[in-house]
Amino acid sequence: MDQKRCAVASKESLIRIFTVPEAPDSTLSKIESEISSNLAGFLNENIAAIEKPLHEIEKDFQTATIPEEPTFVSDYAQDIMEQLVAHSVHTAAPSFIGHMTSALPHFVLPLSKLMVGLNQNLVKIETSKAFTPLERQVLGMMHHLAYGEDDSFYSKWMHSAKTSLGAFCSGGTVANITALWIARNRLLKANGDYKGIAAQGLIAGMLHYGYKGLAVLVSERGHYSLGKTVDLLGIGRDNIVAIATGENNKVDVDAMRKKAHELEASGIKVMALVGVAGTTETGSIDPLNEMADLSEELGCHFHVDAAWGGATLLSSNYRHLLSGIERADSITIDAHKQMYVPMGAGLVLFKDPAATDAIEHHAEYILRKGSKDLGSHTLEGSRPGMAMLVHACLRVIGRKGYEMLIDRSIVKARTFADMIKQDEDFELISEPELCLLTYRYVPKEIQAKLKEADEETKLDIYASLNRFTASMQKRQREAGRSFVSRTRLTPAKYDHQPTVVFRVVLANPLTSKAILKDILAEQKELAKTDPVFKKYLSKYMD
Ligand SMILES: *Cc1c(COP(=O)(O)O)cnc(C)c1O
Repeated sequence: MDQKRCAVASKESLIRIFTVPEAPDSTLSKIESEISSNLAGFLNENIAAIEKPLHEIEKDFQTATIPEEPTFVSDYAQDIMEQLVAHSVHTAAPSFIGHMTSALPHFVLPLSKLMVGLNQNLVKIETSKAFTPLERQVLGMMHHLAYGEDDSFYSKWMHSAKTSLGAFCSGGTVANITALWIARNRLLKANGDYKGIAAQGLIAGMLHYGYKGLAVLVSERGHYSLGKTVDLLGIGRDNIVAIATGENNKVDVDAMRKKAHELEASGIKVMALVGVAGTTETGSIDPLNEMADLSEELGCHFHVDAAWGGATLLSSNYRHLLSGIERADSITIDAHKQMYVPMGAGLVLFKDPAATDAIEHHAEYILRKGSKDLGSHTLEGSRPGMAMLVHACLRVIGRKGYEMLIDRSIVKARTFADMIKQDEDFELISEPELCLLTYRYVPKEIQAKLKEADEETKLDIYASLNRFTASMQKRQREAGRSFVSRTRLTPAKYDHQPTVVFRVVLANPLTSKAILKDILAEQKELAKTDPVFKKYLSKYMD
């Protein structure tokens, strides 16, 4: 056997993959040492700058047969460097400002390896004796951040076998599902002969309580995960009611109140209101206090989806923007967004320690009654120790460190908004409330043309601008120097017509003002050669 490459080459040596590490000069060991000492450099060097078309990449992943024979680890590592790493998306690049996925602090790398090595399963104490108390502490810290209860509250509940103050999960989607699962089960609770929805199901519950349907009300900018949630909970996608937003992209609470009363008058019970603290498309925060008032009026659950914006609570300078969140029955926060934790770290918090009673599950071999197993209150079963990475970031970065990171992102977004406003060929579409904004490129000649255009010409220009913006975004991504994302809004400025815009999220601490300047300059250059512009818009340029 090839000693240097060791590991798996024959079936006889398979046992060795559990004990013998790679030889130091093998490909895998080199990767390992490079990513530990210089992750940013490794990514810069190994991710190809120019995009390879997806159908080309797919050619390397064609075969559906599982390989019969073992392979050298080094050979495999070589393959993935060429086929996988080279064509990965450089989410950590400071010019990658299109999505909520950003750079990671270096210390999470060795800690992630430790987490994987320990391979604890958080579903039950028997496989996570120290990780369970740690996760309960992290949930307590985040609960305290949002709800600010006193010490006696946390000493009573944080490690209590009766409850969990929240639930760790893979992300905001599962967090939202968990929150509304609790809302549904608390609404259709046991009563008289009816043993509750968990025992008897939705239909018996609806008949017992005399509801024709259940509804969840949320801003039209609510996240698509809520659609999945109501589908899964048996409420139905038609019963997630989208409420209009005003010009600031915040939900219109008066319209929500009116809709809620209409629904209830027709026999449909409003199960929950969902406030969004940091919408995915514009980063706006709904009027949470007004929504809390409305949910009290209606006697329904109030959930805040702060998957993206929740980390703002860590800044004493900006946490007031989320004022009213402390009145929510449940809150979703994704640590893998603005808390710089790797993917797979979402959490939901419950105001009332008794909330988890509504979804408590027990089993005989684990999750026994009276045990502190977290699995009796989570939707997911086996789960990794991601809480350790949140714990690490909270300790290493600290509340003040997060405050600095968050404040800088917000200031940077305002600076970028100013740069856009100062350039007469760009238009800011949504002002940043946090560090997310939208804009588009509309040459001043076209802006002038729009002012005097008749209705038909206007609509033609709108449609052409949409195509053009989409084309620019795609070409910028393909050129590989920088990346902004795009979405579609309906701003008053464009007569509430569907309007394609660039969307940027300025969470990477390494994104500088110079980089932002370059991105605008690059877009100006791209516009000059854009085929869609030439075809549909150049005629309006004189
Ligand atoms: C990202 C996000 C979600 C979904 O979270 P995942 O972690 O992608 O499952 C839900 N709501 C909002 C507002 C988000 O930004």
